[in-house]
Amino acid sequence: MKKPSLRVTKWLGDIPVAAECTSCVAAQFEVKSTSHRPTREEYQRSLQSQFDAHFKKVHARPDTIQTAARNAERSYRG
Ligand SMILES: [Zn+2]
Repeated sequence: MKKPSLRVTKWLGDIPVAAECTSCVAAQFEVKSTSHRPTREEYQRSLQSQFDAHFKKVHARPDTIQTAARNAERSYRG
């Protein structure tokens, strides 16, 4: 299965204003205009953080987290 990633679907000039998850058709992210002078970085960050939250909620596998915890425990015991 392909790793889900963020894909920009709508641009305002060179500023990304809307994006989606490549694995979920239903997952759409949109930047709400917060300032009168938006910057590309700000919008990109907003979309990315929305995607990160979505990724953690939908795509983060519990078994991956458990494996990481086990590995951490093992290295702790040395
Ligand atoms: Zn997704």
